[in-house]
Amino acid sequence: MNKIRVRFAPSPTGPLHMGGVRTALFNYLFAKKHKGSFLLRIEDTDQMRYVPGAEEYIMEALNWCGIKIDEGIKEGGHYGPYKQSERKEIYKTYIQKLIDNGSAYYAFDTPEELDEMRKQSEESGSSVRQYNFMTRREMKNSFTLTKDELNKKLNSGEPYVIRFNVPENENLTVNDIIRGEVIVNTSQLDDKVLFKSDGLPTYHLANIVDDYLMKITHVIRGEEWLPSLPLHVLLYRSFGWENTMPQFAHLPLLLKPTGKGKLSKRDGDQLGFPVFPLEWKDPETGEISAGYRESGYLPDAFLNMIALLGWNPGNEEEIFNVDELAKKFDLTKVQKGGARFSPEKAKWFNQQYIIKTSNEDLMEHITPFLQNKTIDGDNLYLEKVIGLVKERMVLLSDFWGQAAFFFETPLEYDEKLVKKHWKEDTTQIMLHIYEIIERIKELKFTSSHIEESVKFYIEEQELSFGNVLNPLRLILTGTGGGPHIFDIISTIGKEESLKRIMNGITKIKK
Ligand code: GLU
Repeated sequence: MNKIRVRFAPSPTGPLHMGGVRTALFNYLFAKKHKGSFLLRIEDTDQMRYVPGAEEYIMEALNWCGIKIDEGIKEGGHYGPYKQSERKEIYKTYIQKLIDNGSAYYAFDTPEELDEMRKQSEESGSSVRQYNFMTRREMKNSFTLTKDELNKKLNSGEPYVIRFNVPENENLTVNDIIRGEVIVNTSQLDDKVLFKSDGLPTYHLANIVDDYLMKITHVIRGEEWLPSLPLHVLLYRSFGWENTMPQFAHLPLLLKPTGKGKLSKRDGDQLGFPVFPLEWKDPETGEISAGYRESGYLPDAFLNMIALLGWNPGNEEEIFNVDELAKKFDLTKVQKGGARFSPEKAKWFNQQYIIKTSNEDLMEHITPFLQNKTIDGDNLYLEKVIGLVKERMVLLSDFWGQAAFFFETPLEYDEKLVKKHWKEDTTQIMLHIYEIIERIKELKFTSSHIEESVKFYIEEQELSFGNVLNPLRLILTGTGGGPHIFDIISTIGKEESLKRIMNGITKIKK
């Protein structure tokens, strides 16, 4: 079998939606599993829809997720250029082949004439309102113009398009790896535009020509392209490329959290979750759309989460790194029906990954969220704190909320907790704790040793644990909650602990 070659072929018309990332990922996993190549091809022939920055965004997003490109604009490769706007001459040669063998034809109809055609077929009750085997005979094109008229028009520079000559009434069998065999009658198809007089091909022509020239073996793309499949199969046939036609797999849609309808940016805005991998600023309106990266998700968690949208390895396991995913991935097991996206599940994945990531690696990911924060202490200290609070984090951006007191002496105390925990004898008890901590030698200043000494005191004095540890936590952290109290004391250190206890005693008076 030929070497597997797959491509992700986005159009730079805006930021890449998470559904697009999923398409790229499934291509990548498939290539990785079969030791094939993964290509990134930028399909930018529709100049009206070109959005500045989108191309860079796509590459940065794939890079952030850890999807590695084997061939592409930056990576190079034997089949470039990998950007369609740089391949214009190639498409001209190939459209000419279709004109020459009668598979494509010129059409000169104006937008008004096209509207009129659609209106008339509507009025006559015809269900067919497209440019096809029936209507083409009444329009201005290679079928109805004489050779002379045609040449005159072409030479005079009159705008035209080149349409595909779809055969009439043929039952065409198309195959999809996920959906199986589908039979389509060609009379239902439109004579799609393949080329425009601005010298640029449309998506269909450029896509087929490039897949052929780039030796693509499998086309894995979103379900929205399924209706184009019959046309693509016909195009392969018209070029005489049936033998090297790739296999097709159309991935299921991503559905809203309710399970009804396609997941859209608006759902994200309404329910407060990102639908894009990275933050995106619309170059025209300046509007900002949230990204997973900026919202505090780990790239591996994001990747794992989207890998399971529409596919699963057939058991209950859910946590996989990218190598494991590639090993297990099976295109034939991708589901046909839409895949419901759950923002809660996305958070759950992130939490699992935060827990299992080493403190050192987590530090790298957390650092961008610590801008404008004063981190007192070295990296080892930061790592230690990360280790203590990571089980309490869902997003990377939760770190500071959980850990600020490790870096800042509290200046205020939660009033409700003061009321609840500061009793008549608390000041006295805290003074004793102060003395106990003061007596512990620096060398023995470990969590377990501090715990032992404080517990000994509590038991000896027949105090309740709550009456000692709750106010102690309050004056050390300013709030309630947080990691094990003795871990906090040993981490912030003796001097700082004593300072905080004294602060607490003087500031909170009953
Ligand atoms: N340029 C198309 C898109 O934006 C590619 C579709 C395909 O993969 O064939 O999705």
